[in-house]
Amino acid sequence: MPKRLKLNADSGQYRWVVSLLAVAVVLPTVCLLWFMNEAIDNERFVIRQKLVLFHTDQLEKARREADDDWARRCRRIEDDEAHPYRRLAEIVAQGGCDAVLMYDPSGRRLYPVLSTEADRTGGPSDVLADAWQLEFVDRDYAGAAERYEQHALSASGYRRRLAEWVGKAPPLDDRGLLDALIGQARCLARLDRTAEAIGVCRQVAFSPLADGADVGVLSRIANARLLLLGWTRDRRQYGELLDETFSGLLDMLYQPNPAGVALPADQNLFLARKAMDIAGQSPQLQSRRLRIGGVPLERLVEFEARSLALADRFAASSDLDAWEPDRLQPLEAADNDVYGLLHRSERSVCFALFSGQTVRAALGEFIGSFQTDAIECRITDDAGRLIVGPDEPRTEPFVAGPIGAHLPNWRIELFFREGDVLERAAGERIAIYTWTGTLVIVLILLSGAVAARAIGKQVKLNRLKNDFIATVTHELKTPLASMRVLVDTLLEGHYRDPQQVTDYLQLISKENGRLSRLIDNFLTFSRMERNKQAFRMRPTSPAVIAHNAAEAVHTKFDRPSCRFETEIPEDLPDVTADPDAMVTVLVNLLDNAYKYSRDEKHIVLRVTSENGSVRFAVSDHGVGIPRRALKRIFKRFYQADRTLSRRAEGCGLGLSIARFIIDAHGGTIRVESRPGHGSTFTVTLPAKG
Ligand code: ADP
Repeated sequence: MPKRLKLNADSGQYRWVVSLLAVAVVLPTVCLLWFMNEAIDNERFVIRQKLVLFHTDQLEKARREADDDWARRCRRIEDDEAHPYRRLAEIVAQGGCDAVLMYDPSGRRLYPVLSTEADRTGGPSDVLADAWQLEFVDRDYAGAAERYEQHALSASGYRRRLAEWVGKAPPLDDRGLLDALIGQARCLARLDRTAEAIGVCRQVAFSPLADGADVGVLSRIANARLLLLGWTRDRRQYGELLDETFSGLLDMLYQPNPAGVALPADQNLFLARKAMDIAGQSPQLQSRRLRIGGVPLERLVEFEARSLALADRFAASSDLDAWEPDRLQPLEAADNDVYGLLHRSERSVCFALFSGQTVRAALGEFIGSFQTDAIECRITDDAGRLIVGPDEPRTEPFVAGPIGAHLPNWRIELFFREGDVLERAAGERIAIYTWTGTLVIVLILLSGAVAARAIGKQVKLNRLKNDFIATVTHELKTPLASMRVLVDTLLEGHYRDPQQVTDYLQLISKENGRLSRLIDNFLTFSRMERNKQAFRMRPTSPAVIAHNAAEAVHTKFDRPSCRFETEIPEDLPDVTADPDAMVTVLVNLLDNAYKYSRDEKHIVLRVTSENGSVRFAVSDHGVGIPRRALKRIFKRFYQADRTLSRRAEGCGLGLSIARFIIDAHGGTIRVESRPGHGSTFTVTLPAKG
């Protein structure tokens, strides 16, 4: 804005004002921007601190809960003197872990126990060697069946007299007797004497010895039940027996008998799988829900299979001495995604196995307390392996820490999901600051602009005033000086004849007229400047305006060197105008046409009407106006060629007055000119109604 003001030397003082104004605008703006920046940074920092504090607290809380949870899990696998199978169904039902090993305080493994460990004297009896020879070597099933039967009968006979035979061991004990009966049944079945085989096998399968404390006997009874199931499965007449035998087999799985003895784990697992197979194949058993202690048999089987796979590796609790108790650690196994947890109590040592999936599920709640739309968490184990969360986080964690005492060196990290959430969280406040700041800056700039404009206007007015005074003084002085010289000459009597006196007086009159015109123009301009030119608008005939203007210049134009033509039709539509003001406009234009024409003047005033408007055109064949000056000739005090204008008695106000008047009438004034060929000024006014 200061650029637009062409300050001359007089307005040097305004440079100061403008500079001060610029400082007054720029300085607070810069300060405000700086404060805004600081406030925004501060806001971001405060919000980050709040979020970090909140999540640190939450992490602490979640860590305590995780500790409690893992302590509960440890207690759950603790042995309570009951048979391990009683705990197993419970552990599997609660889904706390994926496999378990239990040891007594001496280090002996209580679960899973293998048949080789449970029944070290369980081999076949020598007494039955001849029958075995016949069955498996000679394949004489009939002979073998007979032999087995004899052994069984003799064993039964002996046993009846067992009480009398104190101190003398019977040739066949319970196991031998059961082996003989099973052998007999087996051979009968081979001979397709299935009914007989079933009859013999039933004696073993439902023997009251099942409630005793002998693991070997228990295994044989279970085996007999399995054989029975195989033989009776597809035979309708044995429907009841099939049911009974199947229930009997299920009753032996994953639970101890009344004497507190259970099948060894490997045998138990084998029988359980067989039971599932048979149930799957038999239409009669298919509808049975295979559950033990409310837990699906399938889950128990999977659990036991995993436990058995682990049993070889940790035969005694001493194999686990290196493990820190109650700490979840990765198990170095082929499958890396497996963890172990050792728990020691007064009565037992338990080692639980957790798959990565189980650990993730166990951590679900822990993770859930952080994971939101905006925040995601990442957990790594003590070996740095990823458990949950993104592989490669895009940002740095804003909170990180350990997970709890039971998961040593495990680590949780919290990230913002998308971009900087802090930015979003702080966004609202920042937006308020930014808008307020922007508003204040805009207000400062606006007030600066208004002030600068006012100052600019003042400077411009001042310059105008100075120009005006200079021009007025000069323009008034010229005619006054020539009049004084003429009057002095006449007064002093320096004239030749009366004709010269008349000439001088005419000259004086001409200068006087010029002076009056000048003063008229100055007064109009002055009124215009003060905006006090009040126009008296009324419907007026354009022809009257044109005739009056032609009349006004008539005397001046009435000379041989000047050809003045008018084309004024009488049927023109009226215009709403102040006739005197319009005459002034036309006289100014005609005057200029005269002034800026050379010796041979040809001036035309033409009035036409077209498309609801009336046009007054003043043409001359004068000097014309240079192209670059065309736009500026309507400005105050502008003169295209000062020397020419001076000679032509102008002061640069005529056209600006004309435009002011035409603007007030809602019309337009245009000029077309060719330097050296003449100009045409066209005034257009809207026709009335
Ligand atoms: P002035 O009193 O100097 O004539 P005007 O405002 O009437 O002031 O005109 C401004 C300038 O426009 C003149 O000084 C002159 O240079 C130019 N001008 C106006 N009318 C004509 C014309 N008919 N022919 C050539 N130049 C013109």
